[in-house]
Amino acid sequence: MQHGIVQKFGGTSVGSAEAIRRVGAIVGQARDRAPFVVVSAVGGVTNRLFALGEAALAGGDVAELARDIEALHRKILTDLGLGPDLVAPWMAELRDLAHGVALLRERSPRTQDRLASLGERMSARIVAAHLAQVGLSAHPLDAWDAGLETDARFGCARPLPTSDAKIRAAARDRTGIPVVTGYLGREPSGAITTLGRGGSDYSAAIFGAALSVEEIQIWTDVDGVMTADPRQVKTARRVPVLSFAEAAELAFFGAKVLHPATMAPAVRAKIPIRVLNTWRPEERGTRVVAALAASERGIKSIATKGHIAAVNVVASEMMFQYGFLERIADAFARHEVVVDVIATSEVSVALTVDAAARLEPVVEDLATFSEVTVVRELALVGVVGEELRDGLGIQARIFATLAELGVRAEMASYGATRNNLSIVVPRERLKDVVDGLHERLFQAP
Ligand code: ADP
Ligand code: ASP
Ligand code: MG
Repeated sequence: MQHGIVQKFGGTSVGSAEAIRRVGAIVGQARDRAPFVVVSAVGGVTNRLFALGEAALAGGDVAELARDIEALHRKILTDLGLGPDLVAPWMAELRDLAHGVALLRERSPRTQDRLASLGERMSARIVAAHLAQVGLSAHPLDAWDAGLETDARFGCARPLPTSDAKIRAAARDRTGIPVVTGYLGREPSGAITTLGRGGSDYSAAIFGAALSVEEIQIWTDVDGVMTADPRQVKTARRVPVLSFAEAAELAFFGAKVLHPATMAPAVRAKIPIRVLNTWRPEERGTRVVAALAASERGIKSIATKGHIAAVNVVASEMMFQYGFLERIADAFARHEVVVDVIATSEVSVALTVDAAARLEPVVEDLATFSEVTVVRELALVGVVGEELRDGLGIQARIFATLAELGVRAEMASYGATRNNLSIVVPRERLKDVVDGLHERLFQAP
């Protein structure tokens, strides 16, 4: 069958009977567009599945954790007037897996992915059962049965190039509304994989691109993409429209509302994304589109990474030689440490990484040809908007705000796409900086 739209519902949107009833109404309204529904695990369940894996590995008490997870799902089912035993087969698998981990005291990424998969596998059953209950011809579907095949990088799997054709083939033979598990895939030898935390957005984009739908809807618990994380900045407001490039920048800076990989399939297939609020479906949300009209340009949002470290590399003799940057990049690549922001001067290079990254081996390598210092307790602030391209006044306002706050930027970088300005500041001043910038960029008259 031909789907017109993908509708993805996040953890909070499937987190209670009341939320799932809203999902039923939203999907029902879209029934003429032949929706392809993607769901996350019930809110908080993936975290609990990770905690359960840890507890099993440490030989702790998993029975109680399993009981909690089961009770949460059974309550939702009961509140919906559905039989609570619907999730029993997956709860049995969960206990078996936990038992296996506890027995062997071993939890490979492959095992952890299988454990983590249970959240989405249960929520898809519950949501499909409710949709059927309200008269929609819905059926639950595991991502692999919808054609999503990935590589075997457990914990951060990516779809195989053959996946699109398989997704289309699976859709061809189907009727009704599929309720598909987000976040999951399966590698060629048959083991379940996950796409990384928050990966259901990515699933929605993968399916939407493969099926050439008209729109990918991301239903969540806020009115859309906001001018800042509404949990950090109370005065944050909805951004009506973003370009793919702006949304990608925001996601990479850590705005949790869209998973960083989400944009790639949508960009490839030029499919607009819309971010919408399950609790206020009448609101217009945020449109994410390929190109902006002139009137749609502006500064869009501020995103942050609260825990980063900077690595400063100084090697005056090397600087004008070929391959210096390559040697630096190579040290990071060899030890699989991801670099966020790079700033260079004539004699030095500064790079930022996630504070949790294992830097010791990288520093050891770098020290063989340079002087290296690591600065910790830093945070990254990203101001995003294509307007930064020609908005000289905006850059001035950003640095003036820092000066007013008495905050020295440890590092600043203006990306090649010129739609973002990244500033590294001491972590203890992050809140002041975000509040100050938000006020100056979005609230000042
Ligand atoms: P879901 O479970 O629906 O995928 P997430 O928790 O992953 O929801 O993402 C939504 C959350 O993202 C919001 O509740 C909000 O706190 C956070 N967030 C961070 N930055 C932004 C932003 N710029 N705009 C909107 N939400 C943001
Ligand atoms: N349930 C998964 C997580 O919590 C995927 C998602 O919600 O997007 O990371
Ligand atoms: Mg999410």
